[in-house]
Amino acid sequence: MTERILIVEDEESIARVLQLELEFEKYETGVAHTGTDGLILFREEKWDLVLLDLMLPGLNGLDVLRRIRSHDEHTPVLLLTAKNDVEDKVIGLDLGANDYITKPFEIEELLARIRTALRISGHEPAEAADPDLLTFGDLSLHQLSREVHCGGRSIELTPREFDLLQHLLKHPNQVLSREQLLDAVWGYDYFGDTNVVDVYIRYVRKKIDDGEASHIHTVRGVGYVLKEPVHEA
Ligand code: CA
Repeated sequence: MTERILIVEDEESIARVLQLELEFEKYETGVAHTGTDGLILFREEKWDLVLLDLMLPGLNGLDVLRRIRSHDEHTPVLLLTAKNDVEDKVIGLDLGANDYITKPFEIEELLARIRTALRISGHEPAEAADPDLLTFGDLSLHQLSREVHCGGRSIELTPREFDLLQHLLKHPNQVLSREQLLDAVWGYDYFGDTNVVDVYIRYVRKKIDDGEASHIHTVRGVGYVLKEPVHEA
């Protein structure tokens, strides 16, 4: 099945390059040069993913995103942002964008992000049907079979590492203190040092993280949080 990508970008040269590259990769594309046209096209046809520029004349990217998400929580939306749009990136992610990429971007990186977003959204229904499967982004952990995957790779964890990742996956986007993790994973009767948490976080990161981006973020002086890996350009 050919996947369909809607490009909403007012700079015609960028829109054209995106369209050519995506069609070369065998995606079907549609292009809108204003937020309003993008929204109309989004509603009229069926799309598997939206590439949405933030800085658009008239209805801007965040307005478009807000309107898309008021009716549709599932179609992945990737934001195209300028380097100094930090605040808009954060608002965009809070509004339900799946990812963002900073201009000027490498087309290979954009294609990788698109593949990831499509893969995650394509898996959602099956995952939702299995209550023992915990997922977050490209991470998945099955609580009964104890299988762990990250970005399609199978991950071997020791029982303690498994318990730690399981606890983080049950509380995504929530900062957990070392004490909370120690209680949850090692138990209340554990009288060791909380440093053991840092050690095991390091083990788990080493196994699940592929390259520079980490799923488990350190919150200085507090603890750890499982969040989408943020790639900074
Ligand atoms: Ca623009």
